[in-house]
Amino acid sequence: MLAVSLSLAASLAAAQEHHDRAPSDPFTLKPLAGNVYALYGRGGNVGFYVGPDAVVVVDSQFKDLAPGIVAKIKSVTDKPIKYLVNTHHHGDHVGGNEVFRQFAVIIAHDNVRTRMLASPAEILRDFPARVEAARKAGNEPQAKQLAEQIDWAKSVKVEEIPAPVLTFDSELRIHVGDERIQVWHTPPSHTDGDSVVYFEKANVLHMGDNFFNKVIPFIDVAHGGSVKGYLVALDKVIGKVPASVTIIPGHGEVTDLAGLKAFRGYIADVLETARKARAAGTSKDDFVKTVDLPAYKDFSGYPDRFKANAAAAYDEAP
Ligand SMILES: [Zn+2]
Repeated sequence: MLAVSLSLAASLAAAQEHHDRAPSDPFTLKPLAGNVYALYGRGGNVGFYVGPDAVVVVDSQFKDLAPGIVAKIKSVTDKPIKYLVNTHHHGDHVGGNEVFRQFAVIIAHDNVRTRMLASPAEILRDFPARVEAARKAGNEPQAKQLAEQIDWAKSVKVEEIPAPVLTFDSELRIHVGDERIQVWHTPPSHTDGDSVVYFEKANVLHMGDNFFNKVIPFIDVAHGGSVKGYLVALDKVIGKVPASVTIIPGHGEVTDLAGLKAFRGYIADVLETARKARAAGTSKDDFVKTVDLPAYKDFSGYPDRFKANAAAAYDEAP
């Protein structure tokens, strides 16, 4: 069981190295308003709300960090952790589910469960070629690790995958004490299963990976993500929350509505640049080779992910 769960966490994490980072303290706690906290770690940012009789957590990072996350929450309150919301299926946001599901109901959009349950089939489809490539490159440890994933995928049972057990298709509300927690699925953006979580009374919004603050986003087109959808999703959320909202992004520092709008500006600029290139008859190859948005060069991840964002925008541009 342990090997199985490590395997899942590793497989999801391996596919998500772009999200990884290593701050000096993987459990940095930041109290926000109305008993809502942000918790920064190695993976996606965690948020949690402490109610009079229950704690609600948003995202679970990696399995190896989950016990530390739980300990950090316990340092704030002795109330039981009853609910975990996953903003999407990526390994740096659901990796700790294995730990949380022992005491919490895991909630997410339908597609989060679907994607997590599809993971073994994806591994069986994609990993044999990667094992081959690793062997050819002389990287035996990696080949061995990938081969272990294949073994796991062959034998794992559906109930062993720590997927959400309570799923929804558009929105859902969690009521704890006098706080109302809105979970809104957004149009396809980072993936096709994203949700944002709004703590109404506290006026704190957890955006999941619909928002990378001063970080170039990963747009997971292979799992239903969309650049245009990002813009629609951001506008939808921006239209629903007050200007005074405090925002926890999926990655990067806690910020405000101006911070979120700056990220929206980036997405809009990428799309507009791609649209202009298409209108000018520039080929995709030439566009991707030459495209540059110097205004966003100080965003972390620019050298790694900007061109991929631009290519996706070109594919979607009218
Ligand atoms: Zn993600």
